[in-house]
Formats: sequence, structure tokens, C-alpha cells
Amino acid sequence: MTRPSPPSPPDPGPASGTLWIVATPLGNLDDFSTRARQVLAEVEVIAAEDTRTSRKLLPPRNAAPRWVALHEHNETRVVDRLIETLAAGTDVALVSDAGTPLISDPGYRLVDRAHERGIRVSPVPGPCAAIAALSAAGLPSDRFRFEGFLPARGGQRRKRLQALASATATLLFYVPARDLADVLGDAADILGRARRAVVGRELTKRFETIRRAGLAELADWVAGDPDQQRGEAVLVVAGAPEQAAPAGLDTRLLARELAAELPPARAARVLARVSGMPRREAFGLVESTRGDSTGD
Ligand code: SAM
Repeated sequence: MTRPSPPSPPDPGPASGTLWIVATPLGNLDDFSTRARQVLAEVEVIAAEDTRTSRKLLPPRNAAPRWVALHEHNETRVVDRLIETLAAGTDVALVSDAGTPLISDPGYRLVDRAHERGIRVSPVPGPCAAIAALSAAGLPSDRFRFEGFLPARGGQRRKRLQALASATATLLFYVPARDLADVLGDAADILGRARRAVVGRELTKRFETIRRAGLAELADWVAGDPDQQRGEAVLVVAGAPEQAAPAGLDTRLLARELAAELPPARAARVLARVSGMPRREAFGLVESTRGDSTGD
């Protein structure tokens, strides 16, 4: 008996175009690659989140491309049209306002549909804020977890952070800088005041700032300096220690009880030994329980 062969994508026809996924600079135009410029100069159609922003990237040219706006509000309708354009043999490039399309930016549906129709998809890689921040953070980068934007509402944001508290991979978040102080404050409370983190703000731009410290220290620094609340930022947070605390161990309760009996440094040493968390994080937790009432 012959086995049925796996379903193959529908044949779009020999003359179908290519969907180019083109990364653009985060702020510094010198990061615009030669290949990215070339592809955008040659394609007939460019789909962009905000066509006015992306137009500025290209010099005026004789045969102007057709610009198509593609954003979350018109995605379903525009994707159908773009797929028909591609299937008819026209190349299309997708760009976002800055960085790599689809990374917390529109385009997923278009790429998904292109694959379903058997249309060639090809990336033109380049800047991405998350990867730029990770590369400069000096935190473990062998395993990382991109979490995009946290929910804007405080309660939901804290819930999301709680769900990530024991994740051992380095965590990456996109944060509008105006929200940095609140996000860092919540992260310090939930992930640990001394958990190591890096803020990468305005990367590749004039006021680029990269600062590494414990979460609580970063929260105080940003809250005290309005300049740090301007522009765009990536928050990179070290993962939780690999060796998980024994199941059911309430580390905050233990920290509080130890802090009531021992000087902070000794309390932190014992807490680190029992829970497996790094000493600095244990110290932060012990410090943060000051003022909590104990079980006595
Ligand atoms: N697709 C983009 C990429 O590849 O990085 C990300 C788009 S997302 C809508 C915008 C977020 O990316 C900003 O809120 C900020 O968190 C981050 N971002 C973009 N440019 C940045 C920069 N120059 N410095 C730091 N973060 C930046």
C-alpha cells in the first residue's frame, strides 16, 4: 500500500512574485543595509505600517512604487489584495516604521497567507530593537524569551510578570519609555528587587542610554530622571535561577522570618542556600520584607 504523500502548498503558478520582509533602521540611517535599499528601490509595491514614515527612507525615483498601508485595522482586507498581487507575479516588500516587520509589528497574516499560497517569502534582515538590546546587555543570551509589550493596565501587567517569575531564560520586553518607571517598579516587586536587568533606551540614536543594575535600582533611577522617560526602550531581565526553589517553598515568607532573626547579610545567605536564588536577589528580597509583620 502506498502512503498518501503530505499535502503540498497550492501552486501559485510559475510567475508568482516574491514577498520581501525588509528590516529598516531603528533611528540611525547608516544601519540601512545596501540590500534593503536595493530591494525597496526595485519592487513595484511596498506595504508599510505608516506609508508617510517609510517613504522618507527612499530617495525619489522615476518609477515610484505603489505604497500600500498595512496595519492592524485593515489587515484582513489588504492582505487579500496583496496576495493576489503576488500571485499575479509582482514583487512586494513589507516594511514597518522601524526595525524588523512582524516583531511586535504587523505582517504575520500576510506571511502566513503567502506560505499557504506557495508564494516565495524572503527576509532582508537588519535592525531589531530586542536583539540590539540583548547584544549589548551582558546578560545570558544562550536562551532568551521575547515577551513583546506587557499589558498597559497595572493589574494585568503584574499578573503577566507573576507568570514569568520563575522563567529561567533571559526576558525581553518592549516598553515605551513613559511607562518605564511603572514597569520597573512592578518588575522589582514581582521578579526580585536585585534581579539583574538592563534598560536600553533610544538605541542607535543620539541619546542612546544603556544601563545595567538591579531592578529596584533601575526603577529609582528612571523615576528620578524625566529624561529616562522619553523615547523608546527595551527592558532585558536576567532569568530566574536554574535551580528552582523546592516546590511549595514560600520564599517571601522565609525571607521575612529570617530577616526577623538574623542580620540582613546572614539572612540572605541562608535564603540563597535554601531557595537556590542568587545571593544578590536573596538580599533584595530580605530587604524588601522590612516592615512586613512576622508570624509572631
Ligand atoms: N519591529 C520593531 C523591532 O524590530 O524592534 C519593534 C516595533 S515595536 C512597535 C516598537 C517598540 O520597539 C518600542 O516601543 C520600543 O520598545 C522598541 N524600540 C524601537 N526602537 C527602539 C530604539 N531605538 N531603542 C529602544 N527600543 C526601541
